[in-house]
Amino acid sequence: MRGWPEAGSRVGKLLARLDIHRPEDLIVHLPLRYEDETRLTPIADLLPGVAAQVEAEVVTCEVVAHARRQLLARLRDDAAHILLVRWLNFYPSLQKQLAPGRRVRVFGEARGGFLGTEMVHPRLQMVEEGAPLPQALTPVYPTTAGLGQASLRHLVEIALASVALDDPLPAAICRRLGFPAFDEAIRYLHHPPPDADAQALADKAHPAWQRVKFEELLVQQLSLRRAYNARRAQAAVSLPPRHTLLRALLDHLPFDLTAAQRRVTNEIAADLAAPHPMQRLLQGDVGSGKTIVAACAMLQAAENGCQAALMAPTEILAEQHYRKLSAWFAPLGIDIAWLSGSRKKRAREAELARLQSGECLLAVGTLALIEDPVSLPRLALAVIDEQHRFGVRQRFALREKNAAGQRPHMLMMSATPIPRTLAMTHYADLDISVLDELPPGRTPIHTRLVSAARREEIIARLHAACLDGCQAYWVCPLIEESETLQLKTAVETWETLCAALPELRIGLIHSRLKADEKAATMAAFAGGELHVLVATTVIEVGVDVPRASLMVIEHAERFGLAQLHQLRGRVGRGAAQSACVLIYEPPLSAMARARLKVIYEQTDGFAIAREDLRIRGPGEFVGARQSGLPLLRYADLELDADMIDQARESAEELLATAPEAVEELMARWLGGREGLLRA
Ligand code: ADP
Ligand code: MG
Repeated sequence: MRGWPEAGSRVGKLLARLDIHRPEDLIVHLPLRYEDETRLTPIADLLPGVAAQVEAEVVTCEVVAHARRQLLARLRDDAAHILLVRWLNFYPSLQKQLAPGRRVRVFGEARGGFLGTEMVHPRLQMVEEGAPLPQALTPVYPTTAGLGQASLRHLVEIALASVALDDPLPAAICRRLGFPAFDEAIRYLHHPPPDADAQALADKAHPAWQRVKFEELLVQQLSLRRAYNARRAQAAVSLPPRHTLLRALLDHLPFDLTAAQRRVTNEIAADLAAPHPMQRLLQGDVGSGKTIVAACAMLQAAENGCQAALMAPTEILAEQHYRKLSAWFAPLGIDIAWLSGSRKKRAREAELARLQSGECLLAVGTLALIEDPVSLPRLALAVIDEQHRFGVRQRFALREKNAAGQRPHMLMMSATPIPRTLAMTHYADLDISVLDELPPGRTPIHTRLVSAARREEIIARLHAACLDGCQAYWVCPLIEESETLQLKTAVETWETLCAALPELRIGLIHSRLKADEKAATMAAFAGGELHVLVATTVIEVGVDVPRASLMVIEHAERFGLAQLHQLRGRVGRGAAQSACVLIYEPPLSAMARARLKVIYEQTDGFAIAREDLRIRGPGEFVGARQSGLPLLRYADLELDADMIDQARESAEELLATAPEAVEELMARWLGGREGLLRA
């Protein structure tokens, strides 16, 4: 195409930095804002700080040396008012251009200076008297260093003249939703008329913006829908429930499954029986009993002679799962391999050999599961606990462990619920099961907020409670900048508590301990040998010691909401009345105050996640940042939530009735980038 830069050229490379590779990409590269060069403002009417355009004649132009050498021009408009214009950086040619008597247009922000109204470094255009004004607002595009607005505008003109802007959306859909046609919307946004509603453009509320945002969301839905269909078209081993082992497991469990656990277990069982890979997220609040659900699914794989692996984010959690599953499965004669970075090389190699040979069907581990040269020749189910703790790559890596290259079923578990808008846009290729019921016999946790000034009082209460037979966690402050400092604080806290409470047995756990030391301390606490466990946030996720009923968190204001909820969830797991004491250090920031108020008032993890989203905004939300997906360019998940529903319905409709339109839309918005959009 004429005028379009070569791929490897200087401009071509700059465009590539903006992810613009073809004229089509520039069509949907839309302005950030506009400047109004469609009208002229008399010098007398200039307002400080407001961008405006002036047409005037050069009176004088000279290089002056005040504090710095600069070019100073005096301009006079038709009403004979004077405007001073300064350039601090300039080529000598500029002075020649600005010869007295020449007519110019300058665009910029005016300010009141020592010598009168002035503009510094305005945009300059030489004009003849009576030259026509532009008929559209001037777009200002997102750009990158080295690529000026003028070049971008020129390239946009080339693209607009050469790319066919057909409307793939059936007219019926446009009419129903009240959107303008694509070419109309796009031309409007690149060149709005002088009388355009500036506020509606800035807020992206104008119908032209609505159309563009809708199309962007629609393409996202189409692409997720396609990923979903592609997954359903892939083959996976079918694992029909055989119920032999499962029944035996349920018979000797010390509890009955809750109705929610039964429902979710059935949903998963049905997925595993299907001949295409499951991709399911199990959401359940802290303590809702996700582990037994995972155990049932793993057993279903074993019943079919296939392998299953469970990956957890920390040593402590992996070991706890290993113990729990071993206790549940040992009576069934099923044995589990345990892989963690801290196990001795010999032990690890023995476990690897058992998995490799297929002699052992079940594996539990940390990241070692994907780091070791482990292969699970018959891996048919991968379970990922606390999935938000892992990156996309790590989750995929576990999936790749099947030696035959077959895609296993995936079960991901999380206590951090994904807000609805994110679930619909970034996780649409995910089926979701929800455990919305806690096991019976839990008593609600009392949460108290206490200022650090009353630390002595809290220690006294801890003392009394422990003498009464209670067990407690004491969580040390989070120090994000320095792990060493965090460690030091933990050791100091432990020493202080030991000195203050000599009758109590107090343990200390932190990330620098060796794995077997950690395991021994955890086991001592779980076995009731320790009254108090002083801990860093290593205990945050998943740790389950039902007898512990008091949680003290120091510097609670430094923790995030999800973290506080997780920590508090370590207690309230047994029948005893539990309490969580949040010690804060005044003065509190507004954000910290808002967080503590939520954790004080709410106990439901889903409600807390909603508040978290409200306080932090969706871009910050954990799932979105880690998912590695491109965020939307124009649509806003919160502001345009209604449109997501419309986009989803229209996506269904298009896939069923207009496959060519689907192709055209995807090509326009994604080009070759569809691969990136995978949930
Ligand atoms: P989470 O969902 O936070 O991972 P866990 O799976 O660790 O929760 O379960 C929390 C505790 O509840 C464990 O001690 C577990 O054995 C127990 N539990 C799970 N299901 C039930 C049930 N149906 N009845 C009673 N206790 C249960
Ligand atoms: Mg758990």
